[in-house]
Parts: sequence; C-alpha cells; structure tokens
Amino acid sequence: MAGALTACHGSSCNTVRTPADIALASQSTSQDVLHEIFGFDAFRGPQAEIIQHVVSGGDALVLMPTGGGKSLCYQVPAIVRQRAGHGVAIVVSPLIALMHNQVGALHEVGVSAAFLNSTLDMAAAREVEQRMLRGDITLLYAAPERIPTPRFLALLTSLFERGQLSLFAIDEAHCVSQWGHDFRPEYRAMSVLHEQFPGVPRLALTATADSLTRQDMVHHLALHDARQFVSSFDRPNISYRITEKRDGMAQLLAFIQAEFDGDAGVVYCQSRRRVEEVADQLVRAGVNALAYHAGMDAGIRQRNQDRFLREDGVVVVATIAFGMGIDKPDVRFVAHMDMPKNIEGYYQETGRAGRDGEAAVAWMAYGLADVINQRRMIDEGVASDEFKQALRGKLDALLALAEATDCRRVHLLDYFGEPSKACGNCDNCLSPPQVYDATQAARKLLSTIYRFQQSSGMAFGSGHLIDVLRGKTTDRVTQYQHDKLSTFGIGADMSDVQWRALLRQLVASGAVVVDAGMYKTLQLGEPARALLRDQAQVWQRVASTSASKGAASRTTNKADDTDLDVHAQPVFTALKAWRAEVARSHDLPAYVIFNNNTLKALAQLRPSDADELVGVPGIGSKKLEAYGDQVLRVIAMS
Ligand code: ADP
Ligand code: ZN
Repeated sequence: MAGALTACHGSSCNTVRTPADIALASQSTSQDVLHEIFGFDAFRGPQAEIIQHVVSGGDALVLMPTGGGKSLCYQVPAIVRQRAGHGVAIVVSPLIALMHNQVGALHEVGVSAAFLNSTLDMAAAREVEQRMLRGDITLLYAAPERIPTPRFLALLTSLFERGQLSLFAIDEAHCVSQWGHDFRPEYRAMSVLHEQFPGVPRLALTATADSLTRQDMVHHLALHDARQFVSSFDRPNISYRITEKRDGMAQLLAFIQAEFDGDAGVVYCQSRRRVEEVADQLVRAGVNALAYHAGMDAGIRQRNQDRFLREDGVVVVATIAFGMGIDKPDVRFVAHMDMPKNIEGYYQETGRAGRDGEAAVAWMAYGLADVINQRRMIDEGVASDEFKQALRGKLDALLALAEATDCRRVHLLDYFGEPSKACGNCDNCLSPPQVYDATQAARKLLSTIYRFQQSSGMAFGSGHLIDVLRGKTTDRVTQYQHDKLSTFGIGADMSDVQWRALLRQLVASGAVVVDAGMYKTLQLGEPARALLRDQAQVWQRVASTSASKGAASRTTNKADDTDLDVHAQPVFTALKAWRAEVARSHDLPAYVIFNNNTLKALAQLRPSDADELVGVPGIGSKKLEAYGDQVLRVIAMS
C-alpha cells in the first residue's frame, strides 16, 4: 500500500516521512484546500476521515447518500497529493455527457482538470495526454471503457513508473454489480488498476449499496483491504409520499401545481411512450416540462438535459435513463408515475431531489397495474430462476414500502440495514393513515377466487371478481351463474375502490397471483392458505377520499427565496440574473458558478468590499478573484 512508507517525489522534499507524519501534515493541508479552493469552512460528516485516509495512501469504499459530498472526497486528496508531488488523479466516471460540467466546475475554482472521452478528436486527446505527462493536470476524468485500452494503459504505465499517479477514484462504483440497476460490464475491467498499478490508492464511491451490491464492489474491484466508510443513508430533508394511483396524470398535475409551481423537478415513467404522453400533458397544463428518454434523437436529448441543468424551474419527464451523475442541487421534487423495480432504484431516483439540503418531496403514485407489470417483467425475463428469485425479493421489499402504514423512512433505512425512528416527515408520519382489520374481507375475496375455479374451472379478472363480491348482476355474472355462488354480494358494504386497494395488497403479498397473459386472470398464491385458515391477518388502509392529500402538509419550505428578508429579496434576484449571464457565457450550469446557498448568503450579508466576501460559503480564492468585483457591483446596484 502506498501509505506504508511514502517517499515524496517532489523536489522540495528530501526526507522520507512516516504515515503518521503524512497524516498530520495532510490534516492541515486538506483543511487549507477546503478553505482556499472550495471556500468551505468545515468538512461534512465523514469527509475529513475519508480524505485523510486517502491522502495518506489508503484504499477506501465510500457509501454516502446523494448530496453527501462525495466529490470532495477525491478532489481534495487529488489536490493535496498533487501538491506533494504525486502526480495526476484518475477519476472514472460513467457519464461522458457530464464530464464537461465536472471539469468546468473544477476550472471555476482554479483546479487544473481535463477529460478524455470520445467527444475529443485525436489532436485534442493527444494534447490532454501531453499535459498529463508534463504534470499539468490534477484530475483527469475518463469513461470506464477507456481505461483498459492499450493506449490509455500505456499512458498510465508511463506515469506510474515515475510515481506520477496520485490516486484512482471510481465514481458510481455500484455499476460494477449485476445486482444493481445500473450494471455496466465495462466496470469489471477496473480490476486492471490494482493489478498493474499496485500501491496507487483507490477510492470507490457510490450512493446506493445494499449488502449484495456492496459485496460485489469489494469482490470485483478487489477492495478487500479497503476501509469502508458507510454514512447514514438518511436524507432528512426529503419527505416521502406514496399515494394510491387513480388518475395518475391528474394527481401528478395537482401535486405539481399545488406545491411546486415554477420549481425544478423530475418525473419518472416506465416507458418511452409514457414519457412523451406525460410531458405533453404537463406542457399543455402550463408546466415547463421536457421529455428525456433513450429513444430520442441524441441531440434533442442532450439539449433537454442541458436546459434542465442550466435553466431555473424545468421539469424533466424521463425514463430511468435520466439522472445518474446529475448533480443539480435544487431539484425540489422527484415524482414516480410508475413504480420502480426495487428499493435501490427508488432510493437512487428519489435521492436526486434536494441535494442542497433544502426541503424536497419524493412522490409516487402506485396502483395494481404497477404491481402486475413488475411481477410480469420478472416472470417473463430471461434470467435464471435463482436470479428471478432475487429480483422478486427486491420487488417485495419495495411493495412492502408502498403498502406500509407506518413511517416510510424507517422501512427505507431498514432496507439498507440502518435502524431508525419514525421521522415525522413522511406522509404516514404527517397524517397517520387509519387502518382497519381487513382479514375477513380478504377471506371473502380469496374464497371467491377459489369458487370461480371450483364452479367453472376458470380464472377471472379483477373487474368481474369485484362485481361478484359487490353483488352486481352483469351479463358475465349471469352467463357463468356466479350470482349463485355463496360469496355473491357478500362484499356490498365495501366500495370498488376499497376492494381494489385490498386486492392490490393481496397481490403485493403474493396471496393473489395475476396471470401474465392478456386477461390478467387471478389465482390463489401460497400465502392465501394461511389467510383462508384464519392463521394470518391483513391490515388495510382506509381509502382516502381527497385526491391530493398531503398538499397542505408542506410545512417549512419553498426552498427558493421565502426565507430571505425583504431587503435581501431583490439582491438575490439580481444575483441570479447575473449568475445566469455568467453561466451562459461559460457554457456551464448556473450552480457551477455559485449555488443558491452562496447567493442567499450574499443577499443576506450584502457585503460592500472584498474583505467581507472572504468566508462566504462557496467563495474560494479563485472565485473571489474572478467574480468578487462583479458581485460587489451587482449588490451595490440592487
Ligand atoms: P454527491 O456527489 O455525494 O451527491 P456532491 O459532491 O455533489 O455530492 O456535493 C453536494 C453539495 O454539497 C455540493 O453543492 C457541494 O459543493 C456541497 N458540499 C460538499 N461538501 C461540502 C462541505 N464540506 N461544506 C459545504 N458544502 C459542501
Ligand atoms: Zn416517517
């Protein structure tokens, strides 16, 4: 390991330092870098410990939720180690489309960074390689598929032999796992790094990892000796809400219009067609919405992503192809129009809300069709039985979250192995649902399905089942003489909606199995047995009647500007306009120039000279020099 005894490669240093010396020295140096370059006061959570570990040459596996501050965990060590003569840091990042912004953000704070990817022509790529060899670059971003290419390996070898590879950071490291939802086979090639460049510290980072994924990362990235830093996965500023889907589109619209008018958000849909439809309807209703999915023209897709990143208040309607690596801090809501496949997916997608730490909402509408679709996709997939079983287990955990009548966050964190208490900031905590003992009703439903089988030797769908339970004499009921069944009309006391909700819960638990074919007929599953024998209970949520429940429960919030005093308000607006101008001319998203927290601090403080700008969070020395005068002028004039 590089940390065992690290000799300085720089000319200014002629003694060999022990790890303890380096650890001590790095503490202050990392602090200096945080302060001087990034303009922040203190490290957050485990950042300090991680950074110290990597600076002194250790390997690390970092599991930190979105917005936790992973980037600094490798950027600071890269800068510190480069200053100590260790050369360039290689950052493996899966998203070519975002490298421009990542590198641009580093340039804004005065750090020398570059990327190598397929968007560069030969000459430009060669230029970057030359700069790396000359020691001009602190951080180099590369896509995983580039790493094992002979040309790139030769470049790395040449740097390695001269002690000029400071570290490897493998971002979105969960992509190495086939159990995750973002499996990228290219990640498996990262094993060359420790084989060919032993001793260079490696840092793998991700925001999702259940235990299976974690094991996979350790195994495939050979991180057996790496220290694991597992942060709490809680995102306390995100309020989780899961609602019963009736008219999904109307519910979504009501949700956005009631609470998030003019805010940035992401709406996830299962299919490309749905994306188009939903985006279209939102636009018609006056929402500034754009579509994003893999089937679109690449140019339009990129443009939509850029607009989302650069403009204020854009809502992107997307398939899950959208979002990885998107580091826009002020996404106020993430809505799911269809249910994801598992909790990792749900957590990752909802995690894109509220990176800035301000209040945000994760909203999902879910219905029987979602449950059926997800089950069918697993059943009809080509995976092995063992794999399908794992997928079913993951789906079941998500269904349990969706059906939960107690704190959502407790369920979510429990899935990641983290114990917690009721949060007070999810729908179930804010307005605890009324539940009733639905065991008898469930038995009525199950025995009706059983009797269909007995009397006609056939299975039927949910509509017919509910008609029979409620005692409706439809043509079909008469045709099959189901009005003669002993269960005909025994459920007239419950509404269609209540029956449907109960059926959904029974399907979610596997007590009712829906045929994957065209007619979606119903059969009994194994868990039905215990219910029919009265050996198990079912608790059901009393169906809510108001469509947009929760709208009134947004308490603190509008993260934007309502927390500013009257004098700060116009200054904030003026600063935003100035920032938009600068961002446009630098071809970067606005938050890369300054994030909202920095602008708010400026608006509140209203400094009148450069000294007062020092210490404003997010203003490091480079930004002070580049923008200080302009900022003071904008403040003075507004
Ligand atoms: P992640 O990659 O873990 O999702 P980022 O690295 O994008 O998170 O960081 C999220 C936000 O938090 C960014 O705006 C970043 O500038 C900010 N941030 C990170 N660390 C600190 C810190 N120590 N002090 C203040 N802000 C920080
Ligand atoms: Zn809660």
